This record gives sequence, C-alpha cells and structure tokens, in this order.
Amino acid sequence: MDIDPFAQLVGGYDNLLYFGLGVLVLGAMLRWVRLRTDVYLNTPTYRNYVARHPEAATGDGVKCIHCGSANIRNRGYQGEQDRSRLHVCESCGRTLYRTTSSF
Ligand SMILES: [Zn+2]
Repeated sequence: MDIDPFAQLVGGYDNLLYFGLGVLVLGAMLRWVRLRTDVYLNTPTYRNYVARHPEAATGDGVKCIHCGSANIRNRGYQGEQDRSRLHVCESCGRTLYRTTSSF
C-alpha cells in the first residue's frame, strides 16, 4: 500500500481539514471582536442619537446628553481627512455620535 508522504507529514488529511476549519473559525472570531470593539461602528449615528435623546435637539443642532454643552466638535475617525466623522463634546470629551462626510 502506498503511503502519501504529504499525508504522513501532516498526520493525515483529517488534521489538515481541522487546521483549515480552525483558521476559518479564528478568522471569524477576530472579525467579530473587531466589529464589537470598533469605536466608530459602536457610536450611534446622528439619526440614532437624536431619536434616542430627543431632549438633545436644540432646534439648530444638538447638545451633549452628558453635560448639556452645545459645543461639539467633529474629527476624522482615522485621521483628519477621514470621511467617517466622530462628534465629540468639547466640554466633557465624550463621543456623542457619528456621521459620514461627503467631502
Ligand atoms: Zn459633554
């Protein structure tokens, strides 16, 4: 009976299959963790922020739900030119909501 040298090296093709499945599962877990911990994606959108906190709407904008300040600055998520914008309260420093710029 011929023994496939490669199969012998990896301990049979079953091990290779399990290794491949392991890599796939690990990759899926890493992607899940990244999505869960992504600051931008876990910040509510402007629409959600206003819907969740109607009291934050001032008429010509929104204010911070934590300290009431209307002084909100937007900054790029990953650099100043990033179209993904996070809106941060200048007073208490908390991130309030996100928008996507069209510039
Ligand atoms: Zn604030």
